[in-house]
Amino acid sequence: MTKPIARLLVTCRGEIAVRVIRAAKEMGITSIAAYSDADADALAVRLADESINIGGAHAKKSYLNQEALLAAADEVNADAVHPGYGFLSENASFANAVTQAGLIWVGPSGATIERMGHKAQAIATARDAGVPVVPGSKGLIESVEQALAATAEIGYPVLIKAAAGGGGRGIRVAHNDDELAAGIAGATQEAEAAFGDGGVYLERFIAQARHIEVQILGDGIDAVHFYERDCSLQRRRQKVWEEAPAAVLTPEVREKICQSAVALAKSVGYSGAGTIEYLYDAGTTEFYFIEMNTRIQVEHPITEEICGVDLIRAMIDVAGGAPLPYRQDDIRIDGHVIEVRINAENPDLNFMPAPGTIDELEWPLGPGIRIDSMAYAGYKIPPYYDSLIGKLIVHGATRDQALGRLRRALTEITLTGPATTIPFFARLLDQPDVADNEFHTTWIEQWMESQQ
Ligand code: ADP
Ligand code: ADP
Ligand code: MG
Repeated sequence: MTKPIARLLVTCRGEIAVRVIRAAKEMGITSIAAYSDADADALAVRLADESINIGGAHAKKSYLNQEALLAAADEVNADAVHPGYGFLSENASFANAVTQAGLIWVGPSGATIERMGHKAQAIATARDAGVPVVPGSKGLIESVEQALAATAEIGYPVLIKAAAGGGGRGIRVAHNDDELAAGIAGATQEAEAAFGDGGVYLERFIAQARHIEVQILGDGIDAVHFYERDCSLQRRRQKVWEEAPAAVLTPEVREKICQSAVALAKSVGYSGAGTIEYLYDAGTTEFYFIEMNTRIQVEHPITEEICGVDLIRAMIDVAGGAPLPYRQDDIRIDGHVIEVRINAENPDLNFMPAPGTIDELEWPLGPGIRIDSMAYAGYKIPPYYDSLIGKLIVHGATRDQALGRLRRALTEITLTGPATTIPFFARLLDQPDVADNEFHTTWIEQWMESQQ
């Protein structure tokens, strides 16, 4: 469908709903926040032009409730749906249902989501496009015997990964045959329960790797990249701190990895914003595709800042039928950007979620600071959802300047009430390895263990 969007229903919540509503307002599009019973006081509801209740606090009754969302779209006379991230954003059947209802889905088609959102299939697609992949089981595991045979070739340790997994969940390590046999059974059950899809596959565990990902945008025919992000600082395979550019890459490797992402996007006629994730071995300078996220990502602001682009606006434009708003030659990177994810979690209690009311809130100001958040003084963080309450994004001319700004900005935040991850980032900043850019995907866990 190719007509500019006039009434956009935002079917996510939290900071990303706020981000999408802001873009819609800037574009002169009427924004409509879909909200659950627990989110009546959400900033998204306050900022949106209109809002509509979609059901109970539990996501199954609201943000994951396709029927309720489609009924809401009909009731408010929306002509488009933006799913943000999480929830139904990578659900092919919802994307198809939205399109079948005559609405514009701000994202790739259901068919593309199915092909690239399902990990085992995405790996096969990447391999076909000539993109290097991690040595693995070449498809789903059907039996323990098959897993053992595959592992004889792959070599231990291996990861058992849920094909429908996400958010760092549904991944287990096996170091030997016993762990593999037990892991396959457990992982299959767990994946069935968590993602409604028990499919699992195997991948060689790449030790001390960097997580490097490339932001792309396609219009169904052409695609461009917005360079890469380094998201290696993770806890339990969840990103907590992201940077752009990845200072570890040489210009040659950067060009190669970004070109491979564009090639893969074009090979599937990708339309919308997407991210192609890789593991990078700094020792050999080899990179390996791990998955594609067929949606906007949490850490998209670091790319927006470093490239001076508006990815949310661009994805809305493309969904409305416009050609790519950026030409590859016009996309440049400027300086260095770091984002930290501020979660309502207690770092001293094993990052236990800490919902509750925010009493006082003052964000940092001054040069090079951006805050994407739904928090406000008096806001009661509901216990039902992800604990992300905001992202602090700092931009500097160099990585050192960005680190200094991050340190300064963290000290300027006043946030009382719930525990947050802010003190954790202050401690991370004091680590010489972090300052020296000497880390990998399991660095945080090793550091935390060494402190016990
Ligand atoms: P998710 O869908 O949960 O994001 P990913 O496949 O992107 O799953 O993996 C999440 C994280 O798990 C990666 O960023 C990386 O830290 C780790 N990981 C995934 N695959 C491998 C691998 N083959 N070897 C080592 N670490 C891996
Ligand atoms: P990104 O890939 O954008 O860095 P994450 O992997 O942290 O982001 O996931 C983004 C959000 O979506 C998080 O809130 C995460 O909990 C959620 N999420 C991602 N994939 C799934 C999934 N398969 N099931 C449930 N939640 C998911
Ligand atoms: Mg991932």
